Amino acid sequence: MNKFEQLGLNESLLQAVADMGFETPSEVQEKAIPLLLADEIDIVALAQTGTGKTAAFGFPLIQKLDVNNKNTQALILAPTRELCLQITNEIKHYSKYVKGLHTVAVYGGSSITEQAREVRKGAQIIVATPGRMQDMINRGLVNITQINYCVLDEADEMLNMGFYEDIVAILSTTPDEKKTWLFSATMPAEVARIAKEFMSDPTEITVGTKNSGSATVSHEFYMVNARDRYEALKRLADANPDIFSVIFCRTKRDTQHVAEKLIEDGYNAAALHGDLSQAQRDSVMKSFRGRAIQMLVATDVAARGIDVDNVTHVINYQLPDEIETYNHRSGRTGRAGKLGTSIVIITKSELRKIAMIERIIRQKFEEKPVPSGIEICE
Ligand code: ADP
Ligand code: MG
Repeated sequence: MNKFEQLGLNESLLQAVADMGFETPSEVQEKAIPLLLADEIDIVALAQTGTGKTAAFGFPLIQKLDVNNKNTQALILAPTRELCLQITNEIKHYSKYVKGLHTVAVYGGSSITEQAREVRKGAQIIVATPGRMQDMINRGLVNITQINYCVLDEADEMLNMGFYEDIVAILSTTPDEKKTWLFSATMPAEVARIAKEFMSDPTEITVGTKNSGSATVSHEFYMVNARDRYEALKRLADANPDIFSVIFCRTKRDTQHVAEKLIEDGYNAAALHGDLSQAQRDSVMKSFRGRAIQMLVATDVAARGIDVDNVTHVINYQLPDEIETYNHRSGRTGRAGKLGTSIVIITKSELRKIAMIERIIRQKFEEKPVPSGIEICE
């Protein structure tokens, strides 16, 4: 009996686990799955990014739903369109042997009537961004008055993005008896407030240290003059020919600009930010996942929660305004136990921010010299 069998998952799910090649449950899965399967409880689960939280709520959810009932029975809220699609995709993989289960993604930037039509066909699970969900409720396009479960995924991110009001409004249209499962990487005050006000005596699960970084990510910084940022980025790319990275800029404009320069200079790069259409964003993500793109230049909002395997480097082309955001950026690498490097390109005047980040992630940075032109030519 492997460890997944010991968690109480049924045959259809174990078959899907085997197909996906998952050998042992991650810690958050090991803790959350048996609890959620056994009891009807509210839960707050804190675990860093990349620790397998989607399966931790996805498996029990699928097992508990009644596939013969076509009403919406579960709502999963997530911060961004990309995450909605990613979660929907994962749930579809997990439930591939569960006949009659339908999962629909509901998010902005794509036809609301089309999404409503999909929901009407009988979606037991809706995966939604709060904004679009609220819109659908207001227009009477969905009915979540009979759901049994509400999952708040990446709760810290959703609240960071200002979705508090939407979440509260959505929760108020759900039955009091439903169970709420909150998953988050960190526990800022707003998350605690949601848990306190809208959940009943939640069981708390914590994996690793609260708010700390991932042990599989090493952190480096490269000090440069402000005007040399781009040159440093190119040299880092040249020194790591197999690089597969997410590069973070602070604004949409810088994101677009850096991506364009990289493309001009012959790199496999693309931009991901909120000014692109949904179709463009989907296409960029598809190319990145398929590794047709090696360097994805992104804003924080666009890259939130994105789960792409084997990202080798996260590069902070510019540090985020909110130091806390660094954690979410570096969480794009070092996933599922793999090693990754998180790099900061920094000017002398920003140096004190490194010490602040070190305190948050409880890890030290290594200062590295920018690879020189000569080394690159060798
Ligand atoms: P989180 O939501 O905690 O950031 P995800 O649910 O996105 O993490 O999972 C991160 C990656 O790990 C995904 O690619 C997922 O398929 C993979 N994964 C999840 N659980 C396991 C497992 N038990 N064994 C191997 N890989 C796993
Ligand atoms: Mg997640």
